[in-house]
Amino acid sequence: MKLLICGGAGYVGSHMVRYLVERRHDVVVYDDLSTGHRASVPDEVTFVHGDIGDAGKLGRVFAGHRFDAVMHFCARSLVGESVVDPYVYYQNNIGNTLVLLAAMNQAGVDKLVFSSTAAVFGHPHGETIDESHPTEPINPYGQSKLMVEKVLADAARAYGLRSVALRYFNAAGADPSATIGEAHDPETHLIPNVLKAVLGQGGGLKVFGTDYDTRDGTCVRDYVHVNDLASAHLLAIEYLAKHEGAFRFNLGNGSGFSVKEVIAAAERVTGRPVPHEFAPRRPGDPATLVASSHQAREKLGWKPAVDVLDDILSSAWRWHLEPRY
Ligand code: UDP
Repeated sequence: MKLLICGGAGYVGSHMVRYLVERRHDVVVYDDLSTGHRASVPDEVTFVHGDIGDAGKLGRVFAGHRFDAVMHFCARSLVGESVVDPYVYYQNNIGNTLVLLAAMNQAGVDKLVFSSTAAVFGHPHGETIDESHPTEPINPYGQSKLMVEKVLADAARAYGLRSVALRYFNAAGADPSATIGEAHDPETHLIPNVLKAVLGQGGGLKVFGTDYDTRDGTCVRDYVHVNDLASAHLLAIEYLAKHEGAFRFNLGNGSGFSVKEVIAAAERVTGRPVPHEFAPRRPGDPATLVASSHQAREKLGWKPAVDVLDDILSSAWRWHLEPRY
């Protein structure tokens, strides 16, 4: 297959590209490198430096290739930042996505896999969250992703666009090669911050909130390996070859771990202490987010390969010991 990977130089996108190249698919990466890394994209892959809001440049890329499908990873994705500057989130995550969708329509490319998020749900109503859970985002980041999901439903009806929105829970870990991994600046995510604290980097780990209504008072999340997210994307494209419409699937392992449990796991995996201090809650964080991925398992045939937290952490640890970028 020939695929356009928008945002293929980012954390999840770069793992996707690697996954596709290993399976001999033909890949073009389009990325503005605002948060991604050129070094995360293999040399043999065609790389276009561009913004998906640039209709002219995008149109030239579509004119130069016959893509079977597009995977769209470009987004701003920090909850706190979205609260402070929602215009940037709506412009980038919705406005620019509309430019990409129009370019696909113009070029006659009718399959899309879209990176969505557990943040479309807001506060959970039960133990686990399945696709029938109400979507009531509590921040502009979640709103922006939910709006695109709605656009995709309209696009299916109006233009016949086939799409799958994959709602990631907490993406984590790194490729076993340790040649690519998670590298944000500034880093806000728990697992990289825990591992950086072990290495004495990053100015100290803060545990945000110890008074949540959870088993130990810290937030509970469902960590899913980044290569398992990649496998779901490829299965989603195969699904779209057989099904018309706009589909949504939740992706997580179905087990929740508290911040304190992640710290304990990191101590086991690294054999070193994780220095940390307790701090107030971070605005916008729900107490618990755990996926039911029953639908993805049943309909896509998805089965996470790395479903043990310690294994996810060890893959991230190998990367953090020697990051390439
Ligand atoms: N967290 C923390 N310290 C950090 C980063 C995150 O205590 O340095 C907590 C955060 O409050 C949340 C959980 O860890 O409860 C996961 O946060 P992350 O930013 O990794 O992912 P999110 O769930 O926001 O997508």
